[in-house]
Amino acid sequence: MGDEVRYERRGALAMVTMNRPRYRNAQNSAMTYALDAAFTRAVDDDEVRVIVLAAAGDHFSAGHDIGTPERDADTEFPRRATMWWDHTGKEGADRRYAREIEVYLGMCRRWREIPKPAIAMVQGACIAGGLMLAWVCDLIVASEDAFFADPVLRMGIPGVEYFAHPWALGPRMAREVLFTGDRFGARRAYEIGMVNRVVPRDELESTVVGLAERMAAMPAFGLALAKRAINQCEDLMGMRAGMDAVFGLHHVAHAHNAEVTGNSLAGLDPAAMKKASS
Ligand code: ZN
Repeated sequence: MGDEVRYERRGALAMVTMNRPRYRNAQNSAMTYALDAAFTRAVDDDEVRVIVLAAAGDHFSAGHDIGTPERDADTEFPRRATMWWDHTGKEGADRRYAREIEVYLGMCRRWREIPKPAIAMVQGACIAGGLMLAWVCDLIVASEDAFFADPVLRMGIPGVEYFAHPWALGPRMAREVLFTGDRFGARRAYEIGMVNRVVPRDELESTVVGLAERMAAMPAFGLALAKRAINQCEDLMGMRAGMDAVFGLHHVAHAHNAEVTGNSLAGLDPAAMKKASS
């Protein structure tokens, strides 16, 4: 595991901390596979009952790494989420599809199915791909300064790869979030049921640890079954099939951008995205 992610066991809790604060924890592939290694370690450790996904620094995650010096989209990594072929050395939609079905959709689904409850501990920005990381967790606890957005429609893309929007936000709010690209705060996220608690920043960790310890007292197998029960019902509410369908639309948008502008993100880098949102 590289230093992109820190792992710490505290009693029955595994604290998994994204550790690229300099880049607001933008998620490159090195971080993705470091997260996967950390979650695997937590699953394999019988003493761990609950996982906390935290983030170093002032922000949870700025989303997928589309522009830091450590962007590693061209690097081959051991594939763990799917049996698709590696993306390196491929061209066009073949390349993008192979990469995203593994590192984004596949990994998020894999993490959603971790048989131990996970709590996202969110402060500051939780944008686009950052939403995916929070949404795969079972509970989300946010500090009052937390804010959320999926602004990828500015790139002509109908939402991030793990399309949980209608289930996580409700269809009405999902439309507003996608169609405007606007930020919404922790309080609004609480009102629509996307987060479980909103607390002052200095109470964030103690609130998460308190919740985690209450869950940790439950039987481990019972927790795993209850988690699977919720996930199965969410999938019966159409989430898995919906996501598969939308993943195709997402890749139509990438391909359209590449065909028309020569760039699958329509030429928008992080600075352009930030400018558009302020
Ligand atoms: Zn994509």
